[in-house]
Parts: sequence; C-alpha cells; structure tokens
Amino acid sequence: MPTRAIQQLVPTLAVSEGAGVTVHRAIGTPALRNLDPFLMLDHFGSDDPDEYIAGFPEHPHRGFITFTYMLDGHMEHRDSMGNQGDLKSGGAQWMKAASGVIHSEMPRQSEGRMRGFQLWINLPASEKMAAPAYQEFAAAEIPEVADGDVRVRVLAGEHSGVLGAVRDPHTEVLYLDVGLAPGARFEQVLPVAHNAFIYVFEGDARVADTPLPTHTLAVLGTGDVVAMQAGASGTRFILVAGRPLHEPIVQYGPFVMNTREEIEQALADFRAGL
Ligand code: FE
Repeated sequence: MPTRAIQQLVPTLAVSEGAGVTVHRAIGTPALRNLDPFLMLDHFGSDDPDEYIAGFPEHPHRGFITFTYMLDGHMEHRDSMGNQGDLKSGGAQWMKAASGVIHSEMPRQSEGRMRGFQLWINLPASEKMAAPAYQEFAAAEIPEVADGDVRVRVLAGEHSGVLGAVRDPHTEVLYLDVGLAPGARFEQVLPVAHNAFIYVFEGDARVADTPLPTHTLAVLGTGDVVAMQAGASGTRFILVAGRPLHEPIVQYGPFVMNTREEIEQALADFRAGL
C-alpha cells in the first residue's frame, strides 16, 4: 500500500461560539462539511481573555461525542450526568452525548493562554440514543512515548504498542499529539479504510513534498501509513483518524442525527426538558 499523501488543505474559519468565544473551525465549514466520522474540529487559542472569558454556558448535545483536548489553560465542565470536570493543560475529555447531555464549559482563569481543540465524533445510528458516557484524563494519565527527537502523547488509539488513555469503541479513533525536533521524522500506520487528518499548530512540517502550514487542516489520502518530517523550526501537530460510518448526517446546531424527523424529535425533547 502507498504512503498517504495530502488530499486537501483546509484553512480555518474564525467563528464566534458559546457566549462569544473565538474559535478557528477546520471541519464543519463550507470547505469541509465533515470528514466521516468527524463532524467538527475547532481550535481555540488566545492570550486575550476577551476571546475566551465568556465561555460556553449550558447547552445541549445529542447524537455524537465531543472530544476536548486542552493544550493550555483551565476549564470547568458540568453536565446533566452529574459530572464535574476539571480540564487543565494537557488533559483530555471524551463525552458521549448520545441520547442527550446538557453541559457547560467555562474558563477557570481570567488571564493567560487558553489553547486546545474540540473534535466532534459522530456515533453510528445504533448508538445515537444510547445512554451518555464520560471519560476524563489529566495530563499525567495520558501515555507519552518519547524517543529522541520524537515525542508522542497517545490520547486515543495506539502508537508503538502503547494504548491511549481514551477508549473510543464506536469508530476506533486514533488521536495523537506529536512533537518533532527540527528535521525529525515520524511514521504512523493507519487502517486503510479510516479517514485521517493532520493539524499543525506549531512550527512547520511536510508530508512527502507537501508543506503543511500552521493552523491549516490537512486531509490525508488513501494508504496505510503516514510519514511526516519536521521543518527547520520543529513542529507540533495532532494526527487524528477514525472509521467512517457511511450513514446519512442531518445536523441542526448541537444535534446530529440520521433523519429530519429525529432532529425534530431532538428539538421537541430539548424544549420539553428531557
Ligand atoms: Fe458543548
């Protein structure tokens, strides 16, 4: 099988979310509606409290999983399952909203840097109305593989025989945070049928002969392995892959189902306080 090449480079779109938080959306825009099973990728990153202080007050989700990876900062999470999350630098949260969760995600800092990602992972039709579930891991609980010029944090999936902290049984998500010293190389085997992307958030890197600018999502083409090389300043990126569901997607804001009728039901249930 061939090495995966870059199929598409997708610039981010600045969007105001929550109560007025600036996020940079890379999946879920007109340029890339979704990348099955991924519905949305938002990168948030700012040293300016005005861009994050408003946070994300109570709001609902149904039909998918939210995966939050905190690079820098401190957020408090509360949800209708009774979870109180404390997300700090380097920590990760996997929340299976499924049949429905109402939650808030609010900053616990009034200055300094807030930086991270939120990924929405779709659920198969058979799981959309299942009971919600929750996994949260602090930085120290996330396995790290350090090998010379390469440092890999294994959030989900497997790298070099090391299993990630988060278990995603539905679409077998791989989620790695990879740091490379200048000129260092990195390879990862990926299941051929899985969709995958890279998002460089520091420095510069390339895949084969294609340079990857920072803050640009790179959709990977078909193949069974991806090979990266860092540029002169080194790089840090996330590599994410998952098994596509090949099911119809009907989205209305925070509800993602398979049919319009299911969306209407989600709205009716939310209004009724279910
Ligand atoms: Fe949310």
